[in-house]
Amino acid sequence: MFKLSKRLQNLPPYLFLEIDKAKRKARQEGRDIIDLGIGDPDQPTPQFIIDVLSKAVQEPATHRYALDQGMPDFRHAIASWYRHRFNVELSPDKEILPLLGSKEGIAHFPLAFINPGDYSLVPDPCYPPYKGGTIFSGGRLYLLPLLEKNNFFIDFKKIPRTVLKKARLFYMNYPNNPTGATCGIDFYKEVVEFARKNRLIVISDLAYSEIAYDGYKPPSFFEVEGAKEVGIEFHSLSKTYNMTGWRVGWVSGNENLIAALAKVKSNIDSGIFSAIQIAAIAALENCQEHIQKMCRLYQERRDVLIEGFNSLGWQLNKPKATFYVWAKIPKGKKSIDFTRELLEKANLVVTPGVGFGKYAEGYIRFALTVDVSRIQEAVERLKKIM
Ligand SMILES: *Cc1c(COP(=O)(O)O)cnc(C)c1O
Repeated sequence: MFKLSKRLQNLPPYLFLEIDKAKRKARQEGRDIIDLGIGDPDQPTPQFIIDVLSKAVQEPATHRYALDQGMPDFRHAIASWYRHRFNVELSPDKEILPLLGSKEGIAHFPLAFINPGDYSLVPDPCYPPYKGGTIFSGGRLYLLPLLEKNNFFIDFKKIPRTVLKKARLFYMNYPNNPTGATCGIDFYKEVVEFARKNRLIVISDLAYSEIAYDGYKPPSFFEVEGAKEVGIEFHSLSKTYNMTGWRVGWVSGNENLIAALAKVKSNIDSGIFSAIQIAAIAALENCQEHIQKMCRLYQERRDVLIEGFNSLGWQLNKPKATFYVWAKIPKGKKSIDFTRELLEKANLVVTPGVGFGKYAEGYIRFALTVDVSRIQEAVERLKKIM
């Protein structure tokens, strides 16, 4: 046997294994599964983006190694998007770095700042790479529980001084996966204060900035004075443009932090396929109509799911953003057991909360990535087993 490195052994256990297996088995048996588990848009990438890619692929210049720091035109398009969307100014040369999807940058960033023994302050539940990146860097995790009684906000007062002394990174993600929680500018102001006082680097993950409902517009961390001195913000084209498979996103913010991540990456990858960057520019420049349509689609699904489940006695709240619904399960049940039960009795796939962290026990996550008729069918199936 080959002995795995400590850093691999130290990763949190992969808790979806058993559910994945049960899901595969159900599919093989030909059962009619409704999969509300996947955080991956079911709709295709908008045609205008595909058309730009098809043309760009025909250009031999796009076939060579791309620039490590991304195409200047792409960085300018990102800066312009930021200006229109958030009224925030960013230097395309120093404060923006395109990524092979934001997951890549999120996972690599701690390599630039974490030494063995340093802490990262990570919300729990969370998107798993926040934890993985720090563990791969030899760092330690201090978990910040996101609890319903705090509206899934972080309680800074609970963090011990001894941890704060050795903490370097602080992660946050609003609109939040998996809880669907959102935040306002006031919270970001608090974060800037907190980071200054404790000399922390703030990592804001804004993957869901464009998926919002009921007139709500998620803010950027950089709308707050002083934020650029303490942090960076990750963005992704994956969810906004149904481009999860394309692998393109970016990080923006403090120029020293960006330069450090660029240095790490120059030793690992060699840039993003230029044709994809050209298509990404088209996406950012022509986004309004697509985004409105997409939000209407998810909003309708959200309403059908929540009204349907609540008519069966559930008590779900409508999230103002993301395509997730975070649901409390009956008291005393474990989220893995409840997930298995839904699969076995109703052929419904959901994601058990514990997969995102221990503070998410007692919850499951529904993804609004199937069409309305299937959501109605899911409600019908639940009615029969409850
Ligand atoms: C989907 C997602 C991402 C984006 O991943 P990409 O690597 O850009 O596809 C980042 N953060 C969160 C919270 C997500 O759910």
